[in-house]
Formats: sequence, structure tokens, C-alpha cells
Amino acid sequence: MIVMKFGGTSVEDSKAITRVASIVASRSQQQPAVVVSAMGGVTDVLIAMARGAAAGDLSGSLKSLQAVRERHFKACEELRVAPQVCAQLQPLFDSLEMVLRGIAALGELSPRTMDNVMSYGEICSSALVTAAFNVLGLPAELVDARECLITDSAFTRAAPNFEATNQRTQSKLVPLISKGRVPVMGGFIASNADGITTTLGRGGSDYSASIFGAALSADSIEIWTDVQGVMTTDPRICPAAQKIDELGFAEASELAYFGAKVLHPATLIPAVRKNIPVYVLDSRHPEGKGTCIRGRAPRSQTTFRAIAAKKNVTIINMKTTRKLMAFSFLKALFEAFERHSLSADLVSTSEASISIALDSAGVIPPLVEELRQLGDIEVEPAKAIVCLVGEDVKRIIGVAASVFDTISAAGINIHMISQGASEINISFVVEESDMPKAVQHLHARFFEQPQAAPASKANAGRG
Ligand code: ADP
Ligand code: ASP
Ligand code: MG
Repeated sequence: MIVMKFGGTSVEDSKAITRVASIVASRSQQQPAVVVSAMGGVTDVLIAMARGAAAGDLSGSLKSLQAVRERHFKACEELRVAPQVCAQLQPLFDSLEMVLRGIAALGELSPRTMDNVMSYGEICSSALVTAAFNVLGLPAELVDARECLITDSAFTRAAPNFEATNQRTQSKLVPLISKGRVPVMGGFIASNADGITTTLGRGGSDYSASIFGAALSADSIEIWTDVQGVMTTDPRICPAAQKIDELGFAEASELAYFGAKVLHPATLIPAVRKNIPVYVLDSRHPEGKGTCIRGRAPRSQTTFRAIAAKKNVTIINMKTTRKLMAFSFLKALFEAFERHSLSADLVSTSEASISIALDSAGVIPPLVEELRQLGDIEVEPAKAIVCLVGEDVKRIIGVAASVFDTISAAGINIHMISQGASEINISFVVEESDMPKAVQHLHARFFEQPQAAPASKANAGRG
């Protein structure tokens, strides 16, 4: 058995869906189960619709809904799905319209309602893809992912209950797969124990695929996307980025966590637990070998394996009024983070101050209010984290110096530095507007120039 996940661009229109069908058909001997994202860009539109309705612009939201509806029907028609099958999509859009009208009437949008609205992207795309597969000769069966993937009730960023999910996934999918059917499910969407719709957080379809793959003890998990594989950095920032053939789980997790959007940060957790290889592949060039992510990968020929970057970061600087950074102060600080369900991406401390970099998408103002009781606070928004990942980071003398030389030669100011606790990364924070330049210069320095021979590596244990 294998799990194949197709992202938004891979199912963006009828042409892309036809390509997906032939990729899945080429794997039919391996008993595939398929996970799909919403059609490219639809989740963003759904979020805008929900916010628009809550802000009083119902007519704008309904106009966007009409465009989304037409996009699905156009693909249906082009794929020659029978009109009575196409018609099954209609009630889905009707109920989404009712939800939008409800949001507008109340003028209120809770995370629970946002999940409800966002879920329509994957609900509709999975229905469309199933219908298309059947027309194109694949024996597909639509499975509502919300009946398999059970989570807690942390709406918009729900965490899976693996025990319930594994049991439900096996009992729903195994009989279908054994009969030679191809189950098709929406990624990203799930439900809590009461059957209320939840989602796994933006980009969560990768995570769904890996959760289902682990539940089925799949032979592999394939993430089909719009790039050749995991690259040395985001090719949109740096066109010279090169594909990485093989990556270890730890390196890939670190890259995903620090912003390599090609994988949702939690994707590798279930795969690692079951030691299932994860392949990242290009749905526009299915003949490519992509990237294989597994327990161990051959040593990198370059100092670093890849560079990740994450925008939308805020730094909170705190000074204690006391002389020393007492344990009680740090405890109170991190308890406040926990109360607000916020986690720190980078932390650096000195005698009486601490700097914490965190995702700006979190609800920061209430945290800051609380922290003011502990000391002086300064908040710096619009920052970005740049993270260089490589298994050899700690073994090579002078590696940090050459990173920071490169950044200073580019005239970029650094706000915070951390050599990762995981021992395989060096991360630092810059102005968001400087991030692309920082990544481009580092990529040129570490990936586009001849690398020093391995003899320059010193003994293990040196930082
Ligand atoms: P999908 O819709 O298939 O899930 P995403 O847009 O979520 O696709 O992820 C693919 C994108 O990730 C690529 O288009 C690329 O811009 C971005 N990306 C960021 N870092 C990397 C990286 N290191 N390797 C490959 N792609 C990356
Ligand atoms: N459609 C969702 C999103 O855009 C999930 C995904 O594509 O992985 O975030
Ligand atoms: Mg994605």
C-alpha cells in the first residue's frame, strides 16, 4: 500500500487532474490511497470569503463563492463527468452559502466556523477528483476524511488522536483497498470526537497523508507538488536552487519547521514513528525521481544540506528588573507562552534579558500584556528567520563565521542568532525585507561555489 498526496497546483484544473489520474494509474499495482488538497488558491479565497462576510460584505463573499463554484463545474465539464455526478457538488456549495449567510447575520467568525468554511475546499476537490478518476478509468471511491482523521478541538490547528485515527482509517480504507478500489480523501480536514469539522493548520494535507500512511503501515508516502523535490532553498526566492536527491528525517523536519513550505512541519512525525520513506515528487514531471526522505541519508557533499526561511516572525525582547535571570522568571515567562498556546521558534538569553522569536500569526498582544508584569518588553514585528540545516554543522570549524561573514558582506543586519539545540542548524533573524537577499547570498556562498574538501572538517564535538 502507498499513500499519494496531491497539492493545490496538482489539482488546480482539469488538465492537472488528468495528469494526476495517470500518475495514480501508474502506481495501481502498489495499492494507492489518494489524498488531495483544495484546488490551488481555493483555501485563501474561502478564508477571504468568511472574513468578508463577518465584516459585512456578504455580497462580495457570495460573488467569490460563485467564482469557486464555476471553477469546479468548469473542471467537471472539461473532464466529461456525467451531469448527474456534477450535480452532486451543488448541495455542497449551497450549504457553504448558508454558512456564509449565517456568518454575515451574526457578524462573528469563530475558529470553529472558519474550519467549517475552509473544509469546503477539500470536500469539493475530493468529490471532483473521485468523479474524474472514475471517468478516466480508475476505480475510485470517495471517503470523507473527517470519518477517519480524529483530532482534538483546537480549531484551525487541531492535533490528531492517533489511536482513534489509526483504528478508523484501517477499518474504512483497508476493505476498499483490498477490493482493488482507490480511496480518495480530502487532506487538511478532520473532525473532533463529537464529529465537528476541524483542520490541521495551513498546508496540512501533507500531514494528513502521512497520518494515513502511518495508520496503514504504507510502504511509502508520496507528496506530489509543483517543484522537482525538496530543493537546496525555495526556488521562488533563489532560482539557482538545486534538487536534493536524499534527505534524512531529522534534516527534513528541521527544514519544514523553519519554513520550507514544501512540507507541513508535522509531516514527518508519523512517518518517522513507522520508519516509512517519504518521497517529494513533481506532478508536472512525474518521470523525475524527486527527493527521498528516510531515516538515514548519504552524507551531504556541501557544508549545508539546505536553507529554509520563514517570514512573518515577531521578536519579543524582555529585560528583567532583577539583576539575574532567575529560574522563576523563566518559568513564569514560558508558562505565559503555554497559556496563550504560543511556541517560541528561537530563544537567546543574556544575564538579564531574553529574546524570543515567534510566529506573528499567533495571538501576541494578550501575551505581551501579561509579560509586561514580568519586566520591560519590546516588540519587533516584520522579521524573518533564516535557517541553514546540515548534519555537519557542529563538526566544521569556522562554519558560523563564514555564514555571518556572508551576511555582513551583503550589508544585512542580524537581530538574533541561535545555533540550534538540535545541533543540525544555524538560525538567525533579519528584517523580513532582507530575507530574500540573505538567502540568495548564502545560497551563492554555500551551494554555487566549489566546496572545501572534507579534510577541512575538524573533530566531532567542536562548535
Ligand atoms: P502544494 O500545494 O503542492 O502543497 P506548496 O505550495 O505547499 O505546494 O509547497 C510547494 C512550494 O514550496 C514550492 O512551490 C516552493 O516555492 C516552496 N518551497 C519552499 N522551500 C522549498 C524547498 N526547500 N524545496 C522545494 N520547495 C520549497
Ligand atoms: N488547502 C489547505 C491549505 O491551502 C491545505 C493544503 O493545501 O495542504 O492550506
Ligand atoms: Mg503544501
